Amino acid sequence: MPPERGERVSTKILVIEDNSYNLELVTDLLEASGFSVTHARTAEEGLRLARASAPELILMDLSLPGMDGLAATRTLKADPATSHLIVIALTAHAMKGDRDIALQAGCDGYLVKPIDTRTFATKISGYLASVRTRRTAQRAA
Ligand code: MN
Repeated sequence: MPPERGERVSTKILVIEDNSYNLELVTDLLEASGFSVTHARTAEEGLRLARASAPELILMDLSLPGMDGLAATRTLKADPATSHLIVIALTAHAMKGDRDIALQAGCDGYLVKPIDTRTFATKISGYLASVRTRRTAQRAA
């Protein structure tokens, strides 16, 4: 159903995270900034929701039970139905090199846990803005 005139359509974000504390924290921060949040606790459930609920951005914990976040990201990026979804990796592994591995898997950005609650939502908005701007420029080219 189309939104009512004047109604603000909130950007849908899918959070794939198995840690309850992080999931609640991230959800609270995103909802407080006006995002609409759905979540999954496994990559398998996340992939199903990514196809079913068409979020604009996915926050992907890389360390998940079963399929990990890197494999899930590769799956999303290999599927034309989901390859356009923005994937931001979320990981506790603050090792140098992890960022490159995440970007090579197809992640569009990378955030390290523990997250900075003061800047988290702004960083997500920044990723959304930069990907939207880049795609608009690509369409115009
Ligand atoms: Mn995890």
